Amino acid sequence: MDLTNILELKKLMRTYGAWPNKDLGQHFLTDKNVLEKIIETAEVGKSDVVVEIGPGLGILTRELAKRAKKVYAIEIDPKIAEILSTSCVGCRNLSILRQDVRKFDPQGIGRYRVVANLPYYITSHVIRKFLEAKNKPQTLTVLIQREVAERICAKPGRMSLLSIAVQFYGIPEIAELVSPLAFFPSPKVYSAVLKIKVFKEPLFEDVDRRIFFRLVKAGFGEKRKMIANSMSGSLNLDKNLISQLLRRAGVEPMLRPERLTLDNWHNIYLVFTKYLNLETVYGKSEDQSDW
Ligand code: SAM
Repeated sequence: MDLTNILELKKLMRTYGAWPNKDLGQHFLTDKNVLEKIIETAEVGKSDVVVEIGPGLGILTRELAKRAKKVYAIEIDPKIAEILSTSCVGCRNLSILRQDVRKFDPQGIGRYRVVANLPYYITSHVIRKFLEAKNKPQTLTVLIQREVAERICAKPGRMSLLSIAVQFYGIPEIAELVSPLAFFPSPKVYSAVLKIKVFKEPLFEDVDRRIFFRLVKAGFGEKRKMIANSMSGSLNLDKNLISQLLRRAGVEPMLRPERLTLDNWHNIYLVFTKYLNLETVYGKSEDQSDW
């Protein structure tokens, strides 16, 4: 069965009474070159365990199963999962998990890589979930919206909470831009193959990430504002005090937060946690999802 052939793909779906569900981000990849690029970028080898999110009809799954030791394919749509078990019938190293990836726990599967053509509606959620997991993947190779991929890879001058959060955990890089015509049905926007190489050890050993992200969030809290104003508003602290602390951290209070590097944020964290009562900064919230 050739899943790059749109007519064959449509016929296969009709046989099962299925049709692409846009609410579940079902834009199936049909382009051989993009498929090869994802596989090449993911660098999956014989000793690798792979977690594929949203395998769909199996175009990527079959290639991953040929190369990896083990593939866990997590699919939420029961009808699509049924088609998948037919299209991947010979793949003995494949386990199809019929569930929502948001409920999947990678603890206990050892070292692994994530590979996916991600449904758009959960892109940031999924990236965050895996980067913050106790058992993090070695790499994430994901096909996502171009605009989100570019925001993730931004350099100082265009940083955001998202780019800081991803770059806190690893090094992101865009491998390829992908036209809407590479999918059936075509999405409205361009996509990109993004690879994140996850750090083996945390970038900053001495950081409580909840407080770190609380501070970053405060810095970006008020759009188009200078960092001192934004932090003083978000943390409800005197602007002069905030400015003094920022200067101690080597950061000019008049800068916009988009210009700060990860090292700047680390210095801010070190100074703020030294001089401020952490409860003031962090609050009483137990929220783990600060980005
Ligand atoms: N991998 C296939 C491909 O490249 O053609 C399909 C990719 S399609 C963009 C996204 C897939 O993710 C769909 O099969 C969809 O049903 C599945 N999906 C959507 N939401 C999901 C969720 N929360 N958990 C697991 N799978 C999900």
